[in-house]
Amino acid sequence: MAKIRGNTVSCPLCGSSNCSVFCSKEEISSDIAYVKGYFQRRFQDVPAYMFKDTCDFMYDDPCVVYSCCDCSSIFRDPNSITSHIEELYQEDEYPIDLLDHLWNRYQEEYTNDKTWLTSLGLQKGSRVLEIGSHVGAFLWFAQEQGWDAEGLDIGNDVSTYARSKGLKVSVKPFNANDYEKDEFNAIIILNCFEHFDEPKLIIEQLNWILKPGGLLAIRTPNADFIWRTYKSAFKRLFFNTLLGNNLLGISFPKCYSSRCAMDLLSSGGFEPVILRGRELTSVAPQTFYSNFYSKKQLRDMVYRLFDLQKNQCGYPWMDIVSRKK
Ligand SMILES: [Zn+2]
Repeated sequence: MAKIRGNTVSCPLCGSSNCSVFCSKEEISSDIAYVKGYFQRRFQDVPAYMFKDTCDFMYDDPCVVYSCCDCSSIFRDPNSITSHIEELYQEDEYPIDLLDHLWNRYQEEYTNDKTWLTSLGLQKGSRVLEIGSHVGAFLWFAQEQGWDAEGLDIGNDVSTYARSKGLKVSVKPFNANDYEKDEFNAIIILNCFEHFDEPKLIIEQLNWILKPGGLLAIRTPNADFIWRTYKSAFKRLFFNTLLGNNLLGISFPKCYSSRCAMDLLSSGGFEPVILRGRELTSVAPQTFYSNFYSKKQLRDMVYRLFDLQKNQCGYPWMDIVSRKK
């Protein structure tokens, strides 16, 4: 967790105290109001609970957002984050129609991603651990490939649902002591790594339970993209792109820059395999406006332009695959 000494904020990712205000509380408040208003105006017939993780986020209180001048990462004011966040995730309620909707949507998502996921080169019987397995759609995909996969998640409702699909899921936080050294061929962490308080320690522990040459795949929001859009004179032009990628209002405790993520992995005993920029999802959520996905080609052009910046990733999200040395 980031430390605050007097008025000084330390970066929770690299420890630097060379941090500054990235967005005021008022700016974040206005962006969150835009997100919520957008969905309320357009989808009046959709039950409010269907907006979970689309415009209703665990981290959507207005607060100051900071940036680190050394590693270029971005993070919410640590003081704004409740100490009960883990309990809130444990008790996070998902009605069955939302669970069914997410299950179908993410099954389609991983099927769309089959080429990339199978390019990781895992064999039948490979031992795979997913941290943050949610409704279990990735575990379903892994099972379809013949991988020996298990998941863990602290959420009671999502884990119960995944188990009802016959998937192997433990309801608990990650603890390396629950596993053997060199146990897994691959560890997958999708939309979850940005929540870890002590990422350096976690990376070392993941290294310990991976076999030599084992793969670690992380999907996480990209601070490089947030810098490019939030600090642009044309921020308003990027509103729908930010909104469609769950980034408007910066509803994550931490967002890694590509450089910070790669440095963290390198210092934890990993070598890079591939960093792939991407959007949050290739499947239009039920609550999205219809033309967002028809404009993807235009957005891809902008991402590629941003990508030309040396040592940066131009896309809203990153898939980072690295290998245990
Ligand atoms: Zn930093």
